[in-house]
Amino acid sequence: MSAAIRLANIGTVLVVTKEELAESNTAYAQGGIAVAMGGDEDVRLHLEDTIAAGDGLVNREAAQVLVEQGSQRVEELLEWGTAFDREGGTAAGALLRTREGAHSLSRILHANGDATGREIAVSLLRHVRGIENIELMEWATTVDLLVEDGRVVGVSLLDGEGGLTTVLARAVLLASGGAGQIYSDTTNPAVATGDGIAMAYRAGAAVSDMEFYQFHPTAFSMAGAPRFLMSEALRGEGAWLVNARGERFMERYHPLLELAPRDVVARAITREGMDGEVYLDMRHVVGDLFARFPGISKFLTKYRLELGRDLIPVRPAAHYLMGGVKTDVHGRTSLPGLFAAGEVACTGVHGANRLASNSLLEGLVFGALAAEAMEGEQLGVGSGELVVGVVAPRGEVATGEVATERWIAELRDLMWKDAGLLRDHNGLERARRGLDALAITMPRGLFRRGVEARNLHVVAGLIVAAALGREESRGAHYRNDFPEHDAVGLHSVMVRGELRFMA
Ligand SMILES: Cc1cc2nc3c(=O)[nH]c(=O)nc-3n(C[C@H](O)[C@H](O)[C@H](O)COP(=O)(O)OP(=O)(O)OC[C@H]3O[C@@H](n4cnc5c(N)ncnc54)[C@H](O)[C@@H]3O)c2cc1C
Repeated sequence: MSAAIRLANIGTVLVVTKEELAESNTAYAQGGIAVAMGGDEDVRLHLEDTIAAGDGLVNREAAQVLVEQGSQRVEELLEWGTAFDREGGTAAGALLRTREGAHSLSRILHANGDATGREIAVSLLRHVRGIENIELMEWATTVDLLVEDGRVVGVSLLDGEGGLTTVLARAVLLASGGAGQIYSDTTNPAVATGDGIAMAYRAGAAVSDMEFYQFHPTAFSMAGAPRFLMSEALRGEGAWLVNARGERFMERYHPLLELAPRDVVARAITREGMDGEVYLDMRHVVGDLFARFPGISKFLTKYRLELGRDLIPVRPAAHYLMGGVKTDVHGRTSLPGLFAAGEVACTGVHGANRLASNSLLEGLVFGALAAEAMEGEQLGVGSGELVVGVVAPRGEVATGEVATERWIAELRDLMWKDAGLLRDHNGLERARRGLDALAITMPRGLFRRGVEARNLHVVAGLIVAAALGREESRGAHYRNDFPEHDAVGLHSVMVRGELRFMA
């Protein structure tokens, strides 16, 4: 949406989303948006924190652009009516800021307590709906990129009725978000199946850093309950982590205790969790926790739990993909005509580990820059007008719904067990063989879940290959068999897809 608003100044923009436009990782973001709005020193510290969290692999240029241009993008949001929380709860009050893991100071703006992403998505959507040149196509799934003479000229997609359609465009921007659905345990919504990465890879674009998947340390952990996120802001506001014996254990793992980098906290919880549940404890925190965390509090009420009164059971879940379609800071991929921004892209801004709350900012900043680049390119496919034509679906026999869901569940389980938070050579090899076996029974047919299944398989394969290749531990990628850094590890693993189409 950040890109579409700008592109609408130069032509017609079609925004395609799999469900309603607001249904996205963005809408689920709770904790907030990190931004340096206090001048040079503030910007410098934000840059330092981003680089430190990324564990040696942050692309400095991208990080600099993010922290420097962030404040302009957030000012713009304020102009468009995004209501961040303010002192005294009035529009005249100063913006409230909180702190999360690995941030050296409180710089995270939030909205409606713990519903920052929804507020940003809704205010952007309100703005987008008022722009005539932007056409929205909801409940449609893009299937593949159309490539002609080495240039991306459009996409094929399944429309709301399940028909296959092609859309020609002067340029295509992938803004399809993450891929948490690769894993059985994830904080991500159902739409996050890595489609953009799989499409780009199939079309021959370079994909990078796929071994770096961030696992959020504290997703709700109760049998039968969703892995609802217990925001890092809870720890920012003083929550402790305690094990089944009631001991506060983070001092054994990191000097920053509960606010240590996410990968350290996630591994600590996994280790402590081998002897029973791990809990968030806010019983010592004073203040109105219901008012500060209304969304989380309402969720917990369903399970008869309350933040300041009860221990809240938590365990890690797949959360954010640092890798993705390789781009420069202007969203240019290795394929002419194809751009990417947001979680689907890999500018290198997060290196091996994303600093908490940097990704909402990433979408705003790099979405805007990608739009500028798309505008500046001489893109000449026909008249450049939007052309929509229907092609007949291929006549293959589709795999049934139940079999497809079973197949997807198997893939997600094997990725969680053998290519998840803690990895080693044997497990990753098992995952690779498991994916090879699943390739034989791959769901067939042109329907959304079938397309997603095949995309999940591509993305899972890329993660396993990259994780096998990196024989060291760095950032979010932890190898039990190579627990240390290796100097050779200071470069990214990049793969380039081959041109082939989904059958
Ligand atoms: C529970 C949770 C909490 C988070 N908290 C924070 C936080 O506090 N701060 C922060 O900075 N970040 C947070 N994050 C991360 C952040 O929300 C995401 O990284 C970011 O919002 C991604 O934005 P995006 O625009 O790249 O993708 P999304 O917001 O995920 O949007 C992707 C869109 O692409 C569409 N799409 C995908 N595939 C297709 C297809 N094949 N065809 C058509 N449409 C498609 C989807 O339907 C969706 O609309 C959180 C994430 C989660 C899940």
